[in-house]
Amino acid sequence: MSVDFLAVGSGAAGMTGALWAHDLGAETLVIEKASVYGGSTSLSGGVVWVPNNPLMARHGIHDSPEEAELYLETLTAGSSSREQLRAYLENAPRMMTTLAEKSRVQFECVTSYPDYFPEAPGGKPGGRSCEPAVFDARQLGDEFKTMGLQPNEKQVVGGRVTIRVTDGHMLLEGGWPAMRFMMRELLRYYTNVRARRQGRRNTQLSIGGALAGRLRLSLLDRKVPLWLDTPIRELLTEDGRVVGALVERDGKPVRIQARKGVLLAAGGFEHNSPMRQRYQQGPISDRWTAGCESNTGDTIDLGTAIGASLALMDDSWWCPTMLAPSPAHSPVRIMIVEKNFAGGIIVNAQGKRFMNEAAPYNEVVKSMYLANQRGGTAIPAHLIFDATYRRRYPCGPMMPGQATPDRMLPKNLEGNFFVKNQTLEGLARNIGVDAAGLIDTVTQFNDYAATGHDPDFHRGDSLHDRFYAARATGPNPNLGAIEQPPFYAVRVFPGDLGTKGGFRTDARARVLTAANTAIPGLYAAGNCSASVMGNTYPGAGATIGPAMTFAFLAAEDAAGA
Ligand SMILES: Cc1cc2nc3c(=O)[nH]c(=O)nc-3n(C[C@H](O)[C@H](O)[C@H](O)COP(=O)(O)OP(=O)(O)OC[C@H]3O[C@@H](n4cnc5c(N)ncnc54)[C@H](O)[C@@H]3O)c2cc1C
Repeated sequence: MSVDFLAVGSGAAGMTGALWAHDLGAETLVIEKASVYGGSTSLSGGVVWVPNNPLMARHGIHDSPEEAELYLETLTAGSSSREQLRAYLENAPRMMTTLAEKSRVQFECVTSYPDYFPEAPGGKPGGRSCEPAVFDARQLGDEFKTMGLQPNEKQVVGGRVTIRVTDGHMLLEGGWPAMRFMMRELLRYYTNVRARRQGRRNTQLSIGGALAGRLRLSLLDRKVPLWLDTPIRELLTEDGRVVGALVERDGKPVRIQARKGVLLAAGGFEHNSPMRQRYQQGPISDRWTAGCESNTGDTIDLGTAIGASLALMDDSWWCPTMLAPSPAHSPVRIMIVEKNFAGGIIVNAQGKRFMNEAAPYNEVVKSMYLANQRGGTAIPAHLIFDATYRRRYPCGPMMPGQATPDRMLPKNLEGNFFVKNQTLEGLARNIGVDAAGLIDTVTQFNDYAATGHDPDFHRGDSLHDRFYAARATGPNPNLGAIEQPPFYAVRVFPGDLGTKGGFRTDARARVLTAANTAIPGLYAAGNCSASVMGNTYPGAGATIGPAMTFAFLAAEDAAGA
C-alpha cells in the first residue's frame, strides 16, 4: 500500500489533516485502531477556541492577534513556545475559514461564552469559542453506524436530545423557552420514523457528534479512505526519514508507504494506566477520565524509539468527574456546571472548602491535587448540596428534581452515585467527612450567600464563574444557602477530558528530537502532541482548536504548500 499522506487516528486532528492534505493534492489514508471513528472528538462538546476568528467580526465582537497573544503569553507563562503560539494565532482563523469554504465543517460563534480567564490581560467576554453547526447524520448513510458517538450523557437531555452550548444555557434557565425547545426536539426525534426503526440514536447531531460527522462527510465527499480496526504498530524509517508505517489490518501486518509524511493523531494516553502512573502525579487513575477508551498512548513509544522527544506528560485537560453506574455507558460524568450552581460546595475530608468551586474545571482539579498534597485529603472530594439545589439543577445523571424527583430516579443511583440524609451531621457520617467541620463550613458559606461575597475564594467574582450559573435569586448567582433538608453528597474525582502531553513539535507540527531538529516525514497534532497551550486551558475549545490547526499545518508542510 502506498499513499502520500497517512493520518493515524480519526479524531479532529486526524480527519482535519487528511481532509486538507487531500485538497492540497496528496493521496491520503486515515487509519483508526477502534472499530468506530471519531475518538474523544465525537464524545466532546466539539467547541473550538479560535481567537480573532472570522465569525466574531460578524457579531461585532472586536479581537486582535495582539490581544490574543498577550492573553496566551500571560497564561502559558513560559510553558509553551512563542513560535508555536504565534503559529496558532495566525493559522487557526485561516483553518476555520478554509474549512468553512471548502468542506462540510461549519462553526457558529458562541458570543456569550467567555474565555476561562476573561479578566486576564487580553481576555474576552465572549466570541472566541465556537461550536459546530447542527448536523443531519442521515447524510452519512451507513457511515453513521460506525461513528463513535456516545455523547457524554450529561449533554443528552432525556437520553434523546443532544444540545448545543447555547441550548444548554437556555435549558438551565427553564421556563417556557426550555419547554418549547424540548417539545420541538422530541417531536423531531420521534417523527424521524426511518431512524427510529433503526434504533434510539438521534440523527440530529450537535456538539462533538456534529464535528466528527461533518469531518467524516467531508472525507466521504473526497473519497478519502478511513480504515477502521487498523492500529499502527511501527514507524518505518529510511536514512532518518519516516517513510511510512507498519499497521495491522484484519489481524495481518500491512506496510504502508507514506511518500510525503505520517501524521500521528492518535489521541492521548488517558486510558493507559501504567503510563499515567509513570508520568503523572498520584493519586491518578484511568477510571476517572472522560476520554475515549481507545486512547492508550500507543504512538508515544513508537515515536521515542526513533528519537522523538516528549513534553507535558505530567499534565492533562483536567476536569472533575463523578462516577455514576450506567448499564450502557461509561460511568464517568464530567462536572462542569454542577460545581458552579448556587447552593453547592465542594469539601475535603475535613469538611472544609479549599477552592473556588466555580473556577475553570482545569483549575478545580489542580486545586484538588494541591489540597491533597497539603494534607487535606481532597481525593475524592464531595459536592454537598441541599434540596433546593436538587430541585432546581441537574447533577450528573440526575435531572432537576422538579422534573425527576428522587422516587423516579434509577434505584441504583442512591448509595452508588449520591448519598442523602436529613441532617448535615448524618450526611457527614455517611460519607466519612468530619461533621463539625462540615457544619461550620456550611454556616459560614450561608453567610457568604446572604452577602453575595465569598472572601475566601472569590467565587462568582469572574464572568467565567457566572456563565455557568443559572436561576440566580440572591446577590451572587454562584452563591446560595445550603439549608433545606434533605442534604446530598456526590463524590468528585480529579478526572480529565484527555491527556495533553506528547511529542514536542514545531510551528509546522513537525516532530522534534531532543536536539530540536525536525524528524523528516513525521508530524503530530492533537493529544498525542505536547499542547501549544502549555500548562493552561485558556477557553472552551482550546484542545480541539489547536488539534485541527496543527493537523492543517502538518498537511500543508507535507504537501509542500
Ligand atoms: C466529554 C468531553 C467533552 C469535551 N469537550 C471539548 C470541547 O468542547 N472542546 C475541546 O476543545 N475539547 C473538548 N474535549 C477534549 C477533546 O475531545 C479532545 O482533546 C480532542 O478531541 C482530541 O482530539 P484528537 O484528534 O487528538 O484525539 P481523538 O479525538 O481522541 O482521536 C484519536 C483517535 O486515535 C485513535 N487511536 C489510538 N491509538 C491508535 C493507534 N495505535 N492506531 C490508530 N489509531 C489510534 C483513537 O482510537 C481515536 O479514535 C472534550 C472531551 C470530552 C471527553
